[in-house]
Amino acid sequence: MLIILLGPPGAGKGTQAERLVKQYNLAYIATGDILRAAVKSGSPLGKQAKTFMEQGQLVPDEVVVGIVRERLTAPDCAAGAILDGFPRTVAQAQALDQVLEEIGTKIDRVIHIEVDEEELITRLTGRRVCRECAATYHIKFNPPKVRNVCDQCGGELYQREDDSLSTVQERLVVYNKQTAPLIDYYNREGLLTVIDGNREIEQIFSQISSALETGSS
Ligand code: ADP
Ligand code: ADP
Ligand code: ZN
Repeated sequence: MLIILLGPPGAGKGTQAERLVKQYNLAYIATGDILRAAVKSGSPLGKQAKTFMEQGQLVPDEVVVGIVRERLTAPDCAAGAILDGFPRTVAQAQALDQVLEEIGTKIDRVIHIEVDEEELITRLTGRRVCRECAATYHIKFNPPKVRNVCDQCGGELYQREDDSLSTVQERLVVYNKQTAPLIDYYNREGLLTVIDGNREIEQIFSQISSALETGSS
């Protein structure tokens, strides 16, 4: 099973992916997490990506396509995967189609999580992320049991630098311009399911699960 989570920053892609990978036993490919780990380690990939990420801009297509190609061909993805935050441009979507053709697989469903802009800003500026396992929390809407400590692994929570108000606003502009065209791209292929993401985390999860089980839009 290959699932793509599409939606603006703060829509809840990572939050839903955490639940979906457990439920369906899928590999998890989040290009944002992979890039942040590279920046933290100071690797050549990280050095290449850092400035783009800090400014809320997209990392060049070739770079992220290379990452995803490598991950999708790894053994743990043979049984299926969730892509979170990729593709983010039409060029990335076309490159993905080509990789999938090469490895003889296809996309099962694209889940587009829709959320109002004002709500996105509240979610992103209150987001906290685990330094160790990248689990996601929110200071009000999804707080950890112990303040600043990850429920899953005990790691320390931090606020992403690009979750500041000004960078969030820039990321939303970038989303509308470069990523939103993918909604049409996948709709035309009959792969799109639109989910109202303005609700509770568990309600959204059950809607996504039933869409995956019935394959419906
Ligand atoms: P969000 O919470 O906005 O969904 P991500 O963690 O997915 O954020 O991405 C953080 C940053 O990493 C992006 O602003 C961008 O700079 C970079 N990035 C992640 N995925 C991609 C991608 N597919 N293409 C280009 N840049 C990406
Ligand atoms: P994305 O991966 O799409 O950028 P996240 O899953 O990181 O989004 O969610 C962004 C923030 O909003 C996080 O702080 C998360 O805890 C919170 N959040 C996610 N889903 C919901 C929801 N349905 N209602 C309220 N807050 C949510
Ligand atoms: Zn953790």
